[in-house]
Amino acid sequence: MNFGLSEEQALIVETTRAFVENELYPHEQTVERSGHLPMELIREVQKKAIAAGLYAANMPAEVGGAGLDTPTWLLYEKELGRANYALHWTCVARPSNILLAGTDAQKKKYLYPCIRGETWDCLAMTEPGAGSDLRGMKASAVEKGGDWVLNGTKHFISHADIAGFAIVFMATGEEETPRGKRKKITAFFVDKGTPGFTVRDGYRNVSHRGYTNSVLEFDDCRLPKDQVLGEVHRGFEVANSWLGATRLQVGATCLGRADRALAHAIDYAAQREQFGQRIGKFQGVSFKLADMATELKAAELMVMEAGWKYDAGTVTDQDMAMAKLKATEMLAFVADEAIQIHGGMGLMDDLPLERIWRDARVERIWEGTSEIQRHIISRALLRAVGG
Ligand SMILES: Cc1cc2nc3c(=O)[nH]c(=O)nc-3n(C[C@H](O)[C@H](O)[C@H](O)COP(=O)(O)OP(=O)(O)OC[C@H]3O[C@@H](n4cnc5c(N)ncnc54)[C@H](O)[C@@H]3O)c2cc1C
Repeated sequence: MNFGLSEEQALIVETTRAFVENELYPHEQTVERSGHLPMELIREVQKKAIAAGLYAANMPAEVGGAGLDTPTWLLYEKELGRANYALHWTCVARPSNILLAGTDAQKKKYLYPCIRGETWDCLAMTEPGAGSDLRGMKASAVEKGGDWVLNGTKHFISHADIAGFAIVFMATGEEETPRGKRKKITAFFVDKGTPGFTVRDGYRNVSHRGYTNSVLEFDDCRLPKDQVLGEVHRGFEVANSWLGATRLQVGATCLGRADRALAHAIDYAAQREQFGQRIGKFQGVSFKLADMATELKAAELMVMEAGWKYDAGTVTDQDMAMAKLKATEMLAFVADEAIQIHGGMGLMDDLPLERIWRDARVERIWEGTSEIQRHIISRALLRAVGG
């Protein structure tokens, strides 16, 4: 087993870090204080990201991406994750890998424009009444006269305001299973401007300022059959390939932010003096640093191991759940301790720590809550012994 970085990986880390520090950090205060990421700024930074070869780098080479293996992609995500989320996600977009499941015509219409930076995708599963239990969704699509007619509401849909289209999951029937009735789900491409499809402003969020969420409403929204992504009634099969990867992506971005918070904490502990000595000399402070560094390392190993297994084809849902759980909970711990080490200054927005602390909160909720990750892990443990 080799834990070192290859030359190529080291170069990608260095290039991405330099881009994040030089092109994203300078805009963080503006976005954090206004809560808004202006389109002129998006376009300015996006152009530089494309020129640097960092845009849509998560995509395979054959569709115009960087063709990175999963561990290298996660290293890139870690570096991007250091910055304000709205800035790095929007200006250095990573189109959803679910778009790779489209037909050639769908790839031409939806995937390639995202890779070229002409538009963004958004993905709509969650509803006001269906979060963790997505199969409980009420929004539905019914076949009528050769078309599909969509009705219902989705909420919490990230960056749907700037997306050119949505990938929407709808209930399209029910099937009998040994555990009772289960909804069948189908995924659809829905273009902005389609009659019956409305995008409304969502909620104000304590985490990730400038990163918006929207409410999507479908009122007899009629779509031709070729707007189905993947197979009819097999929407979750399409989604599953995407979900695992995004859990690792969440984990990797948490590593970057934790690393940034830890670096601030180490510097401060080495410089700040109280009671006539540097606060890092107090074990009450230095042991915090030791715990933060240890937790970060453990999370990093878990995320990278799951990434390595992803490519080897041996990754399990349990591996990805553990990596997401550990990295997101580690970030909450590290962010909190970094603030504690800074005392009152930690809470001021002159430093990125209060932001990292606020941003850490959503990571334990989206892409499957910590409880759902624990459910996946414990289910695998118990099933192995018939429990
Ligand atoms: C900022 C933001 C952006 C988002 N972006 C998107 C997006 O782009 N697209 C999209 O589709 N969704 C998106 N989501 C939705 C996100 O994935 C859900 O919030 C998440 O899955 C949890 O669902 P919920 O909020 O409805 O909570 P609920 O599912 O109602 O959970 C409430 C509580 O009950 C617990 N719980 C639920 N079931 C169990 C169980 N079986 N065992 C133990 N505990 C349980 C949960 O862990 C949680 O603590 C976003 C959410 C946020 C906050």
